[in-house]
Amino acid sequence: TLTGKNLHLSFGHNHVLRGIDLHVEKGTTASVIGPSGSGKSTLLRVMNRLIEPDQGDILLDGRSVLKDNPDELRQRIGMVFQQFNLFPHKTVLDNVSLALRKLRKLSKDQARDEALEQLDLVGLKHKADARPANLSGGQQQRVAIARALAMKPEVMFFDEATSALDPELVKGVLALMTDLAKGGMTMVVVTHEMGFSRNVSDTVTFMDAGVVVESGPPEQIFTAPATDRLKGFLSDVL
Ligand code: ATP
Ligand code: MG
Repeated sequence: TLTGKNLHLSFGHNHVLRGIDLHVEKGTTASVIGPSGSGKSTLLRVMNRLIEPDQGDILLDGRSVLKDNPDELRQRIGMVFQQFNLFPHKTVLDNVSLALRKLRKLSKDQARDEALEQLDLVGLKHKADARPANLSGGQQQRVAIARALAMKPEVMFFDEATSALDPELVKGVLALMTDLAKGGMTMVVVTHEMGFSRNVSDTVTFMDAGVVVESGPPEQIFTAPATDRLKGFLSDVL
C-alpha cells in the first residue's frame, strides 16, 4: 500500500503540486489522468523521491519513507518512462542485468539468469543479444519494463509509457501492463489511454492544476463525472 499525503511541490514560484492525496492499495492499479501541465509526472517523481516534496508525507505499507535513504525507495518502486532510457551501446540482456549486479549485487550468472527470465516474461528472450536500436519502440519499452521488474519492485510507476509509440505498437505494451495489473502488481499509471484507465485500473485520479479534482472507481469517473472540469476534460479526450 502506497500513500501520498498532502503533497506540495513548487518549482520556484510555480506551485505545481498543491496538496495531493493519492492512495494505492496493494495489488491494485491507480490511473492518473489530467491535462498537460497538471502535475502528473511531477507527482510520480515526488512519490519515488526523485524530487523531495516541500510538504506532505509518503507512506509505504503505512510507514513514512521520507527519513529513509531515497535510493531505498527508488529500489522499491520501479519506474517506466515515455522515453525508454535504455543504454544504447549495451545489449538488451545487459540493459536488464546491469542493475541486478550493481544494486541487487547478484553474481554475473545469477544476474544473467534472472534477466533472461524477465525478458522471457515480456516475450523478448530471443532479443537478449540485440542492441536497443535494432528493436521496435514497443519492444524497447518492453525491455524497459523487464528492467524495472527485474529489481522485484513492490510498486510500479508508468509515466505515459505508450505515448512515444507508433499506434500499432501501443497494444502490445498495454497488454503487458494489463497482465501485470491482473497479476496483482501494485501500479500507478499516468496515461492518456482512457481505455486502460477505464477498463484496467481500479481507481482513477483526475488532476488539474496541481490538485486532485476527482477520484474514484472508473465507472464513477467516466460515467458520472461530478465537476465541470472533469466533464470538459473527458469531452476533449474521448
Ligand atoms: P504532461 O501531460 O504534458 O506530461 P504533466 O501533468 O506530467 O504534463 P508536469 O510535467 O508534472 O505535468 O509539469 C507540471 C508543471 O511543472 C508544469 O508547469 C511544468 O512546466 C513544471 N515543471 C515540471 N518539471 C519541471 C522542472 N524540472 N523545473 C521547473 N518546472 C518544471
Ligand atoms: Mg507528464
